Amino acid sequence: MPGGFHGRILRVNLTAGELGEEHPPEITYRRYMGGSAMSLYFLLRDHVPGMDPLGPQNRLVFMSSVISGAPLVGLTRYTVAARSPLTGAFGEAEAGGYWGPELKRAGFDGIIIEGVSPKPVYLWIKDGRAEVRDAARLHGQDTGRVQTWIREELGDPRVRVAQCGPAGERLVRYACVLNELKHANGRTGMGAVMGSKNLRAVAVRGTQSLPMAEPERVRMLSRRLVERIGPSPLGESLKKYGTPMFVMALQKAGILPTRNFQAGRFEGAENISAQAVNETILESSKGCYACAVRCKRSVSAKGKYSVSPEYGGPEYETLAALGSACGVKDLEAVAYGNELCNRWGLDTISTGACIAFAMECVEKGVLSETETDGLDLAFGNAEAMVEMIRKIAFREGFGDVLAEGVRLAAETIGRGAERFALHVKGQELPMHDPRGKHGVALGYATSPTGADHIEAPHDTAFLTENLMLKSMNPAGVLEPVTAFGLTPQKVRHFVHTQQIWNFYNSLGVCNFAAVPYTAFTLGLLAEAVEAIIGWDTSVYELMELGERTITMGRMFNVREGFTTQYDDLPERLFEPLEPGTPSEMRLCRDEFHDALNLYYEAMGWDRDTGIPRKGRLAYLGLDWL
Ligand code: SF4
Repeated sequence: MPGGFHGRILRVNLTAGELGEEHPPEITYRRYMGGSAMSLYFLLRDHVPGMDPLGPQNRLVFMSSVISGAPLVGLTRYTVAARSPLTGAFGEAEAGGYWGPELKRAGFDGIIIEGVSPKPVYLWIKDGRAEVRDAARLHGQDTGRVQTWIREELGDPRVRVAQCGPAGERLVRYACVLNELKHANGRTGMGAVMGSKNLRAVAVRGTQSLPMAEPERVRMLSRRLVERIGPSPLGESLKKYGTPMFVMALQKAGILPTRNFQAGRFEGAENISAQAVNETILESSKGCYACAVRCKRSVSAKGKYSVSPEYGGPEYETLAALGSACGVKDLEAVAYGNELCNRWGLDTISTGACIAFAMECVEKGVLSETETDGLDLAFGNAEAMVEMIRKIAFREGFGDVLAEGVRLAAETIGRGAERFALHVKGQELPMHDPRGKHGVALGYATSPTGADHIEAPHDTAFLTENLMLKSMNPAGVLEPVTAFGLTPQKVRHFVHTQQIWNFYNSLGVCNFAAVPYTAFTLGLLAEAVEAIIGWDTSVYELMELGERTITMGRMFNVREGFTTQYDDLPERLFEPLEPGTPSEMRLCRDEFHDALNLYYEAMGWDRDTGIPRKGRLAYLGLDWL
């Protein structure tokens, strides 16, 4: 094998209690490279369509990439993938931290898990060996306690633990997988799939160093990347404020999701802003493996809500989901909500979105206090928001209804509740309102995982001839776009940038460490692949990987019965945001559908069915599909 990866995939059958290995040939690694695409390769190859996402046949894949774990800025991410219990479509989520690089140091590139263990277990991987261990005493416990117990049992405080929480054990459909208590494979319910297998955790420890094709070139590249982060204004802001800096940016643009997307300006925005975080609850900035950006937050509070720094701190998405979307301006309550989600293994976005949905049902008289277990679920009620998180995690009372996600909860509630259930393909909207950046509408509609805010860089970053736009030039993105409108130029822009962020998902590259935000240019990424692995590659090959990733996600969904009718948005997003909002912010349904049709054609997909054409599949080396 060349440098960078091991050629070893661990296979685990929990029903039979068997462990084995698969050794894909180099050409498979070259075609799919890791993360999202490599996971899709295994799922499409091994899955029988139509299986129960929470049944034994669903494969749960943990996948790093051919370059992740190399000592370079931002190469930290790994993917967890399966058929999603939230959407029934392709499910995946990426996470940073240290777990992915540790798996590589432990001698494996990925893990494929199938079956269901008859009793709670965890998987222990160290330096090329793996075993399934009893986890009976871990069942039902907080993530913090589980991590401590596993480290004590294994006698090594440096063991890295990825786990589902009690929410995953209870099959909450948007339960996440969490590593180191704070880095989440957040979306699409991968924690529920893990819980359905009676697999509480995957603990890894590696002491091997990763072979590099050209170690000196990797070292030089590392120095160059660190130098590039220093003067980058956005890199500087990310380090100082982290993603919470987006709260005020979106508030100023009039698109901070407020009270379940009923408004775009929140009167309490300053209370939950990055400034407020830094001045009141910030303990320190944190980073992921080998990353000099250090955009992660660690917070604490000792007032009415006691918040521990070991669970990290709220990112922008969490501040908006548990804050403005629920009308809550109590920052400590939001930080505490973030801790509870991490303690119990819940995706903070879907959790906040489900609570905001219930709050609007109450506001519009669709739900009564009796139905919400006596909780006053009024917008702005921080205590009710916090208590609802507990009820969801433990499926208690009305929490059992919300644990199903907004689509199914609305069906259960009835009485027109679906008007307030904001989702795409069953996944709750992230905290970005496409009415203020119309390209995001295409991302929400076409992402195979349902509404996803990191499907492509948002169009508002490319309004002028700025550095961000220039960083995309090598991919053919040359001209600024406007935030509003879905012109052919916008569709072209989206197609290219979607490919970039999808190859990041397959290479395990962090979006905040690469273009358009910081150090890693497209050219430098190609150079990193060459230096780490020894392959002669190009930006072209990486862009093609991005298109391959998108197309495989589409094929997964086609097999599961998803048609173009699912590439749609909730009705609310076609309505005016609030009185006084500029008319150009309105998303026009006809223009949206024209843009979608153009997108299908640009991707080589059939315009009526949305199915990739045979010629395009062949071009991408996917004719086997
Ligand atoms: S940019 Fe932030 S999230 Fe990304 S790898 Fe670095 S520290 Fe982690």
